[in-house]
Amino acid sequence: MTERLYDADPYCTRFRARLIETQTLGNRLAVVLDRTAFYPTGGGQPHDTGTLAGHPVLEVVERADGTVVHMLPADSTLPEGELEGVVDWPRRFDHMQQHTGQHILSQAFAQLFQADTVGFHLSQSYSTIDLNRNDLGEEEIASGEMLANQIVFEDRPVSWRWVDTAEARQLPLRKPPTVHDHIRVVHIEGFDWSACGGTHVARTGAVGLIKVTHTERRGAETRLTFLCGGRALRHYAALHTLTSRMARQLTVAVDELPGVVQRLQDEARRERKAREQLQEKLVEYEAATLACQAPQMGTVRVIVQPFIGRVLQEVRQLASRITAQPGNVVLFGLAPGGTEGATGQGKGQLLFARSEDVAGDMRALLQEVCRAVGGSGGGSPTMAQGGCDAARLAEALERAQTLLRRWLAN
Ligand SMILES: [Zn+2]
Repeated sequence: MTERLYDADPYCTRFRARLIETQTLGNRLAVVLDRTAFYPTGGGQPHDTGTLAGHPVLEVVERADGTVVHMLPADSTLPEGELEGVVDWPRRFDHMQQHTGQHILSQAFAQLFQADTVGFHLSQSYSTIDLNRNDLGEEEIASGEMLANQIVFEDRPVSWRWVDTAEARQLPLRKPPTVHDHIRVVHIEGFDWSACGGTHVARTGAVGLIKVTHTERRGAETRLTFLCGGRALRHYAALHTLTSRMARQLTVAVDELPGVVQRLQDEARRERKAREQLQEKLVEYEAATLACQAPQMGTVRVIVQPFIGRVLQEVRQLASRITAQPGNVVLFGLAPGGTEGATGQGKGQLLFARSEDVAGDMRALLQEVCRAVGGSGGGSPTMAQGGCDAARLAEALERAQTLLRRWLAN
């Protein structure tokens, strides 16, 4: 078993150790030392990084027999005998802040709401705990956070020691230990006792701010996402930059932002409504104009119109409005807008419709036209819609008129 220097002193970042074993595993060199200050992934806490004899330590894992294995690039050359290890301190200290913060936060919710932590995860950018209650509201979360920060402000000592099972039973451990006899207990003075093999700061003050940033109900549990120390500071700075920028953009103070956003939303809603009303009016006028300019075929008025770059929904509205009046048939073609439409490329749309009082099957008409121009479509006897090459739209409309004239003559 490797002697773990971080157990006694998590602030030890530089150490000398004897090389016990090396083994090439794929593109990595697995290195075992007699002792190490590198923390291996485990207990919810990610591994340390740093260097061994100047070579980068990419990953640190623990073997089933308790040996700590350092993973280096395969081409690393290590000296015989003793070598020096250096742990990346900013990364380790960040983990210590998050991990100690987790103990404090878990205990705060246990004390205030008998909500036990049943899961913990520390990732590169945030940490989570899972509480075995799903009925905690915003206020409860806020008071848990408040108590946790108070413990930080009180700068209580954090200590750790090894106990056996009998002694562990005497301690008010937050959770029953998962190991026997050789149990490491982390004690936040007068507040929390936890069996834990992770690395922790020496006083709660070093945790810095503890901030819950997200709450999510998951079945019978609640997942709290939180940030401690440097992460909380960076988060605060990012939010501050963001809100300040928004406030500058809207030329108001930050605390006026919600009111301004509300006003802008109301305004946008009113404008959208006004635009819809105007749109409806426009369609009405356009329908009337198209209808009165259209030629008569016997008793039926046939409105033939190619459109370029119009929204299909709008063209459908127009067709509906015209055919809501008796005696009308519409034959619409719709070519795409932009350069595609200008050069007669892309996909064209066909829309045929008739008033209720006019005889004839628009679907049959559309399908016959489509057969001729190489398109396809469907619909009902009163309204049908299809598509063909935009280049053949004019031909399609022409053919539709001819067919329609023939139908109406019969
Ligand atoms: Zn811990």
